[in-house]
Parts: sequence; C-alpha cells; structure tokens
Amino acid sequence: MTELEQPPRRFSEIARLKLADTHTQGALDMSTARLYGNRTAAWQAVPEIEALRQRAHDARMRVIDDLDTHVARFTEALEARGGHVHFARTADDANAYVTEVCRRAGAKLAAKSKSMLSEEIGLNGALEAAGVRVVETDLGEYIVQLAGEHPVHILAPAIEKTAQDVAELLSRVEGKPVPAELEALTQAARRQLRQVFLDADVGITGANFGVSETGSICLVTNEGNGRLVSSLPRVHIALMGMERLVADLPDLAVLLRLLARSGTGQRLSVYTTLLTGPRRAGEEDGPEELHVVILDNGRSNLLGTHYREMLACIRCGACLNVCPVYRKAGGAAYGPVYSGPMGAVLLPLLVGLEQAPSLPHASSLCGACTDACPVKIPLHELLLELRKDLVDQRIAPWWERAGFGLWSLAWSSPLGYRVSTRLGRALQGLGGLAGPGRVWARGRALPRLGRRYRDRR
Ligand code: SF4
Repeated sequence: MTELEQPPRRFSEIARLKLADTHTQGALDMSTARLYGNRTAAWQAVPEIEALRQRAHDARMRVIDDLDTHVARFTEALEARGGHVHFARTADDANAYVTEVCRRAGAKLAAKSKSMLSEEIGLNGALEAAGVRVVETDLGEYIVQLAGEHPVHILAPAIEKTAQDVAELLSRVEGKPVPAELEALTQAARRQLRQVFLDADVGITGANFGVSETGSICLVTNEGNGRLVSSLPRVHIALMGMERLVADLPDLAVLLRLLARSGTGQRLSVYTTLLTGPRRAGEEDGPEELHVVILDNGRSNLLGTHYREMLACIRCGACLNVCPVYRKAGGAAYGPVYSGPMGAVLLPLLVGLEQAPSLPHASSLCGACTDACPVKIPLHELLLELRKDLVDQRIAPWWERAGFGLWSLAWSSPLGYRVSTRLGRALQGLGGLAGPGRVWARGRALPRLGRRYRDRR
C-alpha cells in the first residue's frame, strides 16, 4: 500500500474516535475558527476580491491546460542558470533520485522545510532507509515528527495539538520541563533546531510555486526555516508537483496576494523567497547544487478531464477551515497526507477511486469549501462527480446502488413519490432505518417525515 492508499473503513473509524475525543475537538474548533475568521476579515479588506479570485483561477487554468510547455520552459530556464531538473513519474522515481543525490553528497543529515509532497511520496522513510537522518524544521512538522504522527492539516500540521501537548514533546528532547507558553516553546524549538540547520549536508524543501518564465522556485513560510534550509546546506533539493507552475512573475503576484490571505489571514506570509539557480560566482551564500524534482504521481491522469480544475489548488488550507466535516472528523481520517475537501477530491483522483471510496462522501455538500477557495475550484461539484463515478464504475456497494436506483425510480412519478413517502412514514413508526441505513443514521438526528409537504416560504 502506498502513502496515499487507505483501508476502506479508515474514514469512519478514525472520525468516530476523533468525535469522542473532547481534547482534539477543542483544539480543532479553536484553531479552525481562528483561521476561518482571519480569512474572512482579510478577504473583506480587499474590495476587488472576486475579480482577484477570477484572475487567479484563469492564471492557474492557463498553465494547467498547457502544462507540457510550462514544464519544458521551466526546465530550460533553470538549467540555463545551473540548476538540475528531474521529472519523476512516480513516488519511487522521486525517492530514488533524492536518495541518489544525498548519496553522492555523502549526506548523513538532511534538514527539511515543510513539504506535503514529501509526505505524499514517503520521502523520510526512503531517506532513513538509506542511512540519512531527516529532521523537520517547520515547527508544526517538527512537533508531528516528535509525536511520530503525520500532518493533519496542509497548512498547520499540528493543528490538533494544544500548547500543553507541544510542551510535553519538546520537554522530552530538552530533558527538562518546558512551560506551555508561546515564547518558551518557540525558544526550546529554536535551541533544538539551530544546530540542525548548521550541520545539515542537504536541505530539502517543497516549492509553493515554480515560475516557468524565469526557472525560479518560490517558497512561502512564516518561520524563516525555508530560507535556512535552502541556503546553508551545500545541496538544496526542492520537491514540486508538476501543477505548481505559474507562467510568469505577474501571475505569481496575483496568487501570492491570495495565498496568505486565504490561509492565515495575513496580507503576505512573513518570508516569500524566490530562488533562481544555485549560488553563482561572487555570491556569498546559497547552495552549490540546486535540484528541483517535478513530480507527476498520477496528476497527468487529470489533464484533459473536468477534474483538472483540482490541479489549480494552491494549498492554502481555507477549504479545510470552513468544512463542517473536517472540523469534526480531523485530518487523520482522510489519510496521512491531504485532508479536508481538497484531500477528499484529490486523493481518489491520484490513487484511483477504488483505493479511497469513502472520501467523496466525507462532505455535507454545503458548498462552503467552494465559496472559500481563492482559485474558485468547484470542490463540492467535483465531490458530487466522484460520487457519480463510484456508481458508474460499480465501486459503490450493490445495496447502495440498488437503494438510490429505487429511490430515483420512485420519485420520478407522483404516484411513486406518494407511495414511497407513505412507506417511509410507516417504517419510521416501526423503528426507523434498517441494515446499512441504520449505520448511516447513527450519529444523525433525522427529522420525522411530515404527513404532507409544507411550503415554508
Ligand atoms: S482547494 Fe482551494 S481552498 Fe482548498 S486548499 Fe486548495 S486552493 Fe485552498
């Protein structure tokens, strides 16, 4: 099983555990509400926000609809400036390339800045197996690594941890208690990570965007660790999904105006770094080697289909923070990498619906995710499409397909509608749903069916 595939009942089993865990519920509620509120206020402060979202959507789709050209242009521009570009079809291919670069560099320690792509391909495990120690340097990722867990939010990996949880994890490394206060926690993390930046042989980062016109990669962080990881070690390896390219710097500027506002409510993240090639003669810092790994890993299957809109995602996290399902179920239910509405759409598309059949159902279809998406991805419509595919491809269980088929048939005529609703009322009186219906209704408060439809307008 790859990092992305998941057992069929994973979502419901983990979601049920999380719902009963008041500690996690409290942390999730508080953090997602804060991010949601920050985003709303930041958007309200931009009068032209709808026009900006449309420009961002158009910029993303222009590249996605001509991706081969942009990959070639980016590769040519970066190689002209001394960088190396490797196009990896699969996770194994990407891991093998990164491992080989580390082997050639004689690396014993790799410092990593946050990269969801490295989670997607299971890079840490591959490097550890090759004898390279990997240390996460994004604070949230570091906390999750100390806990031996996976990120549960694409923007805030440790969103389900409280200050007390973090204090306990950092205290173990310190060998003495660290108070659960913001300044003490950040000072402890700084002490623990500073030497890693200085000692690392290789720095590994993600890439928020790649600019095909200039061959630059753009890193967006709030902690500055991305700059240290990409400039102090002798070798820098950046991992980037093939869809993260933008055409030029003006398009990048549009997306940057939306990224931080939509994720955390900031006008701009604290550090926005553009890197164009390795260190050149006469420059004082920067790596001697820069390698950019561009990953496909299933993305090209979406090109030319209506699902290609999902490739426009800029990983801002806004759809997670507004989703009533994510806010209760938490990130782990979706799998170890992508979660919330963007994960529920993207994961089945990357690994195949049969490997993640429960995710298209992890939504109330309220549409809040679509409204919050800065690049206007119609997330809830894509989820509905995926549900249709589950039926068309006969992946949904027979009883589900038969049930919805009968329902559709019954409600296609006035007589069928009347008979089925009467039957429904009678069955409700006899104790409600049976079989799979009873499982579905568990945890839901179903209203009683009225004797007749009332128009409430
Ligand atoms: S789908 Fe949209 S809202 Fe969700 S993370 Fe991606 S860009 Fe942000």
